[in-house]
Amino acid sequence: MVQTAPVTARVIDGKAVALQIEREVGTAIAKLGFRPGLVAVRVGNDPASEIYVRNKATKARELGLAGTELVFPDSMSEAELLAEIERLNDDDAVDGILVQLPLPKQIDARKVIDAISPAKDVDGFHPINVGMMHQGRPSLVPCTPAGVVRLIDSTGEQIDGKHAVVIGRSDIVGKPMAALLLQRNATVTICHSRTRDLPGVAREADILVAAIGRPIFVTADFVKPGAIVIDVGMNRVTPDFAPNLAHDEDKSRLLAKNGSVLLGDVDYARVREIASWITPVPGGVGPMTIAMLMQNTVTAAQRRRA
Ligand code: NAP
Repeated sequence: MVQTAPVTARVIDGKAVALQIEREVGTAIAKLGFRPGLVAVRVGNDPASEIYVRNKATKARELGLAGTELVFPDSMSEAELLAEIERLNDDDAVDGILVQLPLPKQIDARKVIDAISPAKDVDGFHPINVGMMHQGRPSLVPCTPAGVVRLIDSTGEQIDGKHAVVIGRSDIVGKPMAALLLQRNATVTICHSRTRDLPGVAREADILVAAIGRPIFVTADFVKPGAIVIDVGMNRVTPDFAPNLAHDEDKSRLLAKNGSVLLGDVDYARVREIASWITPVPGGVGPMTIAMLMQNTVTAAQRRRA
């Protein structure tokens, strides 16, 4: 009888890859001879958005960009925000504009995204950039999926010809993720909440990307031995989740100690015994998103001011 020894996946270190990108950004800025300007706009006081926006502006300054955080009250009207976007579109010192989502309910996020100049749309959410990306033309590409591609490349594994299964079809992660993998010649399947036999479809994947928003939803049953597993999910759970985590000593300890713990969509403790490569949460996809945003800002500056 042939016995297969259990293998433990190699961990893809998102912090290290992000640091490499930050170095590349630093070199590109030095060549530009001016400081590209990134403006991060926040409306209201959602605590998570506050941290995200501050981190983006701070990282921008750290890398030598001119990073500005613009904060407006929760009561801001849609017309006022659109006027602000127009002002930033017209400001030649501004190369990148991002508006942190979600926005207060009186503001239509679609209208705001559509109002950002595609040349300054460093989140890559404007329909012109989305269309250009789908056609494989140069564009500003959404940061999280672009970061995932860099993470897969960092393993040295080929994407070309592999079967990639993406779970999630949001405009921000799932759909652009699928488009980028297709562009790299993967055979791509997109799954969502209506997919039948999700574990069976996921088990077909050589590259499995989970972008769902449900803690440890992707169990070992979803994973083909030797697959590359990328976990985009970020889910903070509280002690009521502890019974589901008994098998994961590290996370259980953190939960007991801190009263909450950050989990991915993938059951890391079990899936790492099957996969060939896996991203941890935190320290996997998360650090890549901000790094790619900085890279997009430099790209926008290079194209706009060349
Ligand atoms: P989203 O807009 O809520 O989309 C979630 C997707 O998952 C939807 O397409 C949904 O399907 C699918 N889904 C939900 N439940 C499912 C189920 N039971 N079976 C199969 N599919 C299911 O979320 P998102 O913005 O894409 O984000 C996904 C996760 O990534 C979240 O945890 C978020 O916090 C995280 N995230 C992380 C980063 C980062 O930097 N690391 C960046 C962005 C997002 P339907 O379309 O059918 O509803």
